[in-house]
Amino acid sequence: MSRVLIIGCGGVASVAIQKCCQNSEVFTEICIASRTKSKCDAVKEKLAGKTTTVITTAKVDADDVEALKELIHSYKPDAVLNLALPYQDLAIMDACLACKVDYIDTANYEPENTDDPKWRAIYEKRCEEAGFTAYFDYSWQWAYRKRFEDAGVTALLGTGFDPGVTSVFTAYAKKHYFDRIDTIDILDCNGGDHGYPFATNFNPEINLREVSANGSYWEDGHWVETKPMEIKREYNFPQVGEKDMYLLHHEEIESLAANYPEVKRIRFFMTFGQSYLTHMKCLENVGMLSTSPVKFEGHEIVPIQFLKALLPDPASLGPRTVGKTNIGCIFHGVKDGQERTVYIYNVCDHQECYKELGSQAVSYTTGVPAMIGTALVVSGVWKAKGVHNVEEFDPDPYMEMLNQYGLPWVVDENPGTVD
Ligand code: NDP
Repeated sequence: MSRVLIIGCGGVASVAIQKCCQNSEVFTEICIASRTKSKCDAVKEKLAGKTTTVITTAKVDADDVEALKELIHSYKPDAVLNLALPYQDLAIMDACLACKVDYIDTANYEPENTDDPKWRAIYEKRCEEAGFTAYFDYSWQWAYRKRFEDAGVTALLGTGFDPGVTSVFTAYAKKHYFDRIDTIDILDCNGGDHGYPFATNFNPEINLREVSANGSYWEDGHWVETKPMEIKREYNFPQVGEKDMYLLHHEEIESLAANYPEVKRIRFFMTFGQSYLTHMKCLENVGMLSTSPVKFEGHEIVPIQFLKALLPDPASLGPRTVGKTNIGCIFHGVKDGQERTVYIYNVCDHQECYKELGSQAVSYTTGVPAMIGTALVVSGVWKAKGVHNVEEFDPDPYMEMLNQYGLPWVVDENPGTVD
């Protein structure tokens, strides 16, 4: 029995909300609050008569801590699930802290304005000290640890698929298959086809920022940075087939390196087709991926935000996307003195997701784990004061719920490896 406030009502939230409503024993009441209230009302209407979860809706600007506090005070939730954008993470954490309410999210903080000199000074120092240049990192949210501990509340960070399920797969592998893990390769394959020459499967701004940035991986206790798309491999993904994949920086590498210091190397690869890469490079070359405002006919516009307005809304890709995703981790290490390699992955079919919830698989594979992480926090199964990443908790109940709520996983003890 719980009351949960869900902030944001885009592609991922739509899945998480519908999954909460399939789990009404845990989610007895939810409030969907976002910038555009009509989207919250539309999801509520879609679920009318199909669930016993009581749904209310609200309008909120999640950049405004006072407005968030007011909403939390009036709704009195047990937890807040943040499914807005990473830009809002700190404001929502501040409001949760002030109201002593648990906090859950799927993506780590990054600033909307990367030209802000105050943020930039901290960022540049971090680039130099840590050795990677991504705009997002955990330092901002990990800095809340003591305050969340003192307030007696939990912040659960990164319960999407990657980060999220990939981190839980790591905890599960360590618990059941390894005494020591030496290397982790996280492979994110989207074998889906939406038929557009160019579109992104989740928020275009966040997606394009991530993909056009330098890559990096963790090796022997430090970061090794690469140029964007510098490292390419091919992999034959179960149920999808042979795909090109490229090494990216990704946020779970940072938390896994901190929580599993024994691991010598952690890499993240994502598949891209040539058309996606050519479009992205062209847009980058003409300045359309820039986050710095420019003057256009008397208006100030941010190029990447204008591009977002032109691109298909990821939430609209569901009906036209066919094919499957395959996301998982290949672990190499030692058990009982013997070397072994284990691949844990999930395959998700875009059209099956659309039939069930009206969404494509990228929103589905993020929204389901968002619901699961929240369910485990509000039911007290995953409860620890402070700020925590998902791999810090017992993976077993999470893994069971993945099977139960539409993301069954496979353990392959003789997989192909990545050189
Ligand atoms: P969308 O852009 O589809 O949805 C974002 C939602 O947040 C929209 O409803 C938007 O409102 C709302 N929002 C944005 N700014 C504010 C604000 N200031 N106040 C209130 N609401 C706001 O994004 P997605 O659903 O694709 O992604 C949601 C989150 O999931 C992101 O943080 C993304 O990084 C993360 N993600 C994580 C993954 C993982 O595996 N861990 C994978 C994919 C995504 P409006 O409707 O008005 O625009």
